[in-house]
Amino acid sequence: MICRKVKANLADLLLDPEAVPADVRSHLKECAACSQELAELQATMSLMDEWQAPEPTPYFDSRLTARLREEQRAEPAGFLERMRARLLFGTNMSFRPLAAGALALLLILGGGTYAGLMTSHSGAPIQASATVQDLQSLDDNAQVFQQMATLDQNDDSSDDAGNNL
Ligand SMILES: [Zn+2]
Repeated sequence: MICRKVKANLADLLLDPEAVPADVRSHLKECAACSQELAELQATMSLMDEWQAPEPTPYFDSRLTARLREEQRAEPAGFLERMRARLLFGTNMSFRPLAAGALALLLILGGGTYAGLMTSHSGAPIQASATVQDLQSLDDNAQVFQQMATLDQNDDSSDDAGNNL
């Protein structure tokens, strides 16, 4: 337990030992594992203090400029590639949860409507309209994604169309 407390205070032990609670500091004297960890961290810190970034080679700037120019020339394809990757990524990583959320909203909406029909509760329609708005914005997002996918596909058949984007 106290070992975990020591780990949480490791940074303070290095930078401002006086601010660390006394029980943590006394534990360091008794616990080999904790004092070892602190020693290793101190060694790393002093190494980083001594380390100096090497000077770049004389040709570094010109090579970097040339690389940047290459990347800029390759930008249209790269951009579309990134968009495609984002679309695919979105399908896997964020769109499915969104779809699952939309389904859950539909179920809530359906349940609310059903309950509203059964009890004629006046609160139900107001909740339903907010839900419908959420579903509408989800649908708009889906349309934007589809439009981007269409643009991407058009570019595959014609390079000029891509450059006009
Ligand atoms: Zn310990």
